[in-house]
Amino acid sequence: MNIIIFGPPAAGKGTQAKLITAERGLLQLSTGDMLRAARTSGSELGKKVAGIMDRGDLVSDEIVIALIEEQLDNNKDAPGFIFDGFPRTVEQAKALDKSLSSRDMSVDAVIRLAVDDKVLMGRIKKRFADEGRKDDNPKSFKIRLDNYNKQTAPLLPFYENRRLLSEVDGLADIETVAASIADVLNKLEVNVSSETLPFWKRIFGLS
Ligand code: ADP
Repeated sequence: MNIIIFGPPAAGKGTQAKLITAERGLLQLSTGDMLRAARTSGSELGKKVAGIMDRGDLVSDEIVIALIEEQLDNNKDAPGFIFDGFPRTVEQAKALDKSLSSRDMSVDAVIRLAVDDKVLMGRIKKRFADEGRKDDNPKSFKIRLDNYNKQTAPLLPFYENRRLLSEVDGLADIETVAASIADVLNKLEVNVSSETLPFWKRIFGLS
């Protein structure tokens, strides 16, 4: 099963992705984490993206798509993936479809964490004070939010049209959000596994 955890910056995608990994063993692929790791390692890529990230802008589609493809190839035995912070543009979403289908996989669900901008601003002020992530400063955060609204939110109809989108209240506490996501995924697992049964077994509800 491959799922996308979707939402604006600071919606709690990373936190929830980690909980899903702990429960189901799906591998979390966070482009934000990969880019931060590149920076920490001092690689050429890290140097190239540092300024863009600190400003709150998106790095190029080409870079993040290559990072994702590398992970798909390096983790062929994974039971499935959780995409966290990717895709963020329509171009990336199309590339993800291609990358997955060329490996006999597809996106099975997109879970949207619905949150409110004012709450996000509050959360991020606290995270900036606690962790000091440069791109959490108010100016960069505003740019990240604008980029989300302009470039990433258009993916919602893209996935909704394909009946892949489920929405979860991202303002609830962490456990409640996790439980709502688990509900969505449990239903999905039932559907996915029943699709693999012969039709007569499906009709009679046999498994
Ligand atoms: P958040 O979800 O809190 O905004 P991330 O850790 O997902 O943070 O991303 C941090 C930064 O990394 C982004 O602001 C952007 O500069 C870069 N980045 C991460 N993922 C992508 C992506 N899919 N496309 C373009 N840039 C990305």
